[in-house]
Amino acid sequence: MNVYDSARMAEVLAPLGYVPTDDAEGADMVILNTCHIREKAAEKVYSELGRLRRVKQRRAADGTPMLLAVAGCVAQAEGEEILRRTPFVDMVFGPQTYHRLPEMVARATRGAGAVLDTDFPAESKFDALPEERAPQGVSAFLSVQEGCDKFCTFCVVPYTRGAEYSRPVAQVVAEAECLVATGAREITLLGQNVNAYHGAGPGGDWGLGRLLRRLAEIDGLARLRYTTSHPCDMDDELIAVHGAVPQVMPFVHLPVQSGSDRVLSAMNRRHGTDDYRRVVGRLRDARPDLALSGDFIVGFPGETDDDFAATLALVDEIGFAQAYSFKYSPRPGTPAATLPRQIDDATKSARLAALQALLKSQQNAFNRAWMGRRLAVLFERAGRRAGQLVGRSPYMQAVHADAAGAAIGDIVELTITACHANSLAGTVTGCAPHSAAPETIGVGA
Ligand code: SAH
Ligand code: SF4
Repeated sequence: MNVYDSARMAEVLAPLGYVPTDDAEGADMVILNTCHIREKAAEKVYSELGRLRRVKQRRAADGTPMLLAVAGCVAQAEGEEILRRTPFVDMVFGPQTYHRLPEMVARATRGAGAVLDTDFPAESKFDALPEERAPQGVSAFLSVQEGCDKFCTFCVVPYTRGAEYSRPVAQVVAEAECLVATGAREITLLGQNVNAYHGAGPGGDWGLGRLLRRLAEIDGLARLRYTTSHPCDMDDELIAVHGAVPQVMPFVHLPVQSGSDRVLSAMNRRHGTDDYRRVVGRLRDARPDLALSGDFIVGFPGETDDDFAATLALVDEIGFAQAYSFKYSPRPGTPAATLPRQIDDATKSARLAALQALLKSQQNAFNRAWMGRRLAVLFERAGRRAGQLVGRSPYMQAVHADAAGAAIGDIVELTITACHANSLAGTVTGCAPHSAAPETIGVGA
């Protein structure tokens, strides 16, 4: 979502003459768009600001002053603290106010002191952002939902992104059409809780399933994805869409966090492991070649060896094609941060290593199972060698191929010939108008 927000910031700033650059040292303005989800991410901000301070000083001495801004969820959570610790920062603003960037830049360049804007305004930023989107390439992000009302006890999102909000259907469709007109063939719908989407549409509120069906009607849009979903919000309509709409990819990111019902309850996840099993079973019934990705937290306060063993057992049982796993990171202001029986770092590290070894072996098995079989790949960029293109399979695997004659944006059917640590290689076998995988594949039990 920060990638999406950064692209939108660039669009808001374009009328002022700003264009994105890779050269931070020579830039007129540097915006750090930050993440507060775990402590490590938040810490990085201050070390990066220390480095940029020296650049800013040098630029001021050269007579080419640079504006420095901190955006995103660290700004939202620690705005005052950032200004206190790093007073050389010119602007601090949260994820819901970046549509006001032109005013902030004007105020900051007038030299009236640092600008702090961490409101949760009543008006939605989406109503104030430009309607036209700059080209985002073959695969584009589109935020449809933001914020969260679930209050899992470990999570800062409800405090940094605010209450749950769904964009109206018409606005989402218009933005998707614009992205497709500027070259997107795949769109990933984004939301902290994307499947809780309930945007105003013709006839009342639309769920995510109905929205996906509508978006699939857009000419030229070959692939749809959505992330991140909560197991409780996987409704019948959304599950059915997986069996009915070929543009919706057979790959779902569905975090479960833990395999222990006791821990899930302490996390306030509002579901147990059996609920998760049921949802996964129904998704696989709807689309037998569907593969899963997940998020896991190890070392949540009070997590015992048995709780952790239950997580390993659930992973073993479900089978994940890919996953993200984290050590529990206490976040200020969240209920879990002050729970008794916090887990020591050595235990967290050992559990993370064991979990990641299992997840990695599942990922490798999933990838290896494609050897000699066909996958439809959407080419996104040129590879290192002449004539080589790199793209993504329906399952987000990176696949490269010698594909002279094909172009970026084409979906080409490849036969997989090699399986490397982080990518697959294939040879061209045909053109795939859609991207439905031809065969069923499963991992785990
Ligand atoms: N809305 C999604 C998750 C959004 S946050 C859901 O409910 O599943 C993305 C991931 O970061 C989470 O799934 C979780 O695994 C991880 N995460 C969030 N807070 C964390 C914390 N305090 N410590 C470690 N990992 C955390
Ligand atoms: Fe955070 Fe997801 Fe829980 Fe919301 S549902 S509080 S975003 S982990």
